[in-house]
This record gives sequence, structure tokens and C-alpha cells, in this order.
Amino acid sequence: MRFSRLRLTGFKSFVDPTELVINAGLTGVVGPNGCGKSNLLEALRWVMGENRPTAMRGGGMEDVIFAGASTRPARNFAEVALTIDNGDRLAPAGFNDADQLEIVRRITRDVGSAYKANAKDVRARDVQMLFADASTGAHSPALVRQGQISELINAKPKARRRILEEAAGISGLYQRRHEAELKLKGAEQNLARVDDVVEQLA
Ligand code: ATP
Repeated sequence: MRFSRLRLTGFKSFVDPTELVINAGLTGVVGPNGCGKSNLLEALRWVMGENRPTAMRGGGMEDVIFAGASTRPARNFAEVALTIDNGDRLAPAGFNDADQLEIVRRITRDVGSAYKANAKDVRARDVQMLFADASTGAHSPALVRQGQISELINAKPKARRRILEEAAGISGLYQRRHEAELKLKGAEQNLARVDDVVEQLA
């Protein structure tokens, strides 16, 4: 799964529509302090379904929306679009019917986030699974934040295991297991209720 383009509008310091072409091979982002290098990495995490405001260095998710500057008013929404080269049709069923896959996440003040895949509405979960299965998810160890290496060195074994699991591409399976367990629990509760009713009728 190769990323080929990243488009940002109203996301953090990227108030005007900004498009970055990502060519094959290594990509470096250079610039002076505070020019938005980390914001770019956060945009990648965010479009892949990151839902922890702390991972976006914010107090709430709406903090990713351009907050205004002395010469520019604040925006009402932020949008990030990530284009993926899907020529090899590696994206899972439901996503893999085109050469290019464009995932868009938009957040609107007081409304929340919505996702689209090639202009069709999709659920956050589907987008998170798409990237988790490809080991490039929002928590992927391939995206290294400032300070993350020292965090990793000082991490507790459980936290370190989570990082290894994400790298191995099995975190999507954990999510599916969790959902299956919740369904099972629901079914067990329903069965217990049916038993109660049968007992009362007997
Ligand atoms: P450094 O090299 O110092 O780590 P950087 O290039 O990684 O810097 P970022 O941390 O990505 O820079 O960008 C910081 C800039 O983004 C700051 O100027 C900050 O004011 C701006 N910024 C962050 N969130 C918003 C927002 N919601 N609205 C407007 N500007 C924002």
C-alpha cells in the first residue's frame, strides 16, 4: 500500500488547501522550527482514524481545525485526504475496485468527523481496519513522533508489546476479537433473558 498524495485544508497550520505529492522511495520533510513538519505527520495519523486528541497534541479533536491567526479568521472545518496507489488491488474487498483509493476525513465544529473512501461514506472503523491490516495504522511504529524513541525505551512491557503487535499487523485482529467478544456477551445476555421468560411460563 503506497501513499501517493496528501491534501490538507484547514488542518492545524495548513489553513489554505495544500497538496503534497509523495513519490516512491524515501521522503524527507525539512523546514524551520514551527513550520508544520509534525502537523503533516499528525495529518497522516488523523486521516487513518486517530481518535486520541493527545496524539494530535490537542485537548479535544476540534483542536486540529485551524484556530485563526492575527490576519486570518478560524476555520469551521478541517479536511485531510490521503491518496493510496491501489494498482496491486491490495486494499480489502469493498475498497479495492479502483487503481487509486482516496480516503478523506473531515471534522466540522460541533458536528464531528466523517470519512469517505472514493467519495462514498464509510465508517471510522472501516478506515481504521484498512490501515491496521496494512500495518500502517494511526498507531503504526512506522510513524515516529518526537520523543517517541525515549518513550519506547522507558515503556512498560505491555506497552512495548502493543507496538510489536502493531508492527506485526495483528492489531486489527485484536479489534475484531474484541468486537466478537462483545457480540458473544450480548448473545449470552439475550439467552439468559429467554431462559427467564421460559421459566416464568413453565
Ligand atoms: P519543530 O521543528 O519545532 O518541531 P514543526 O515544523 O514540527 O516544528 P509543528 O509543530 O508541526 O512544527 O507546527 C507548529 C505550528 O502549528 C505552530 O506555529 C502552531 O501555532 C501551529 N498550529 C498548531 N495547531 C494549530 C491550529 N489548530 N491552528 C493554527 N495553527 C496551529
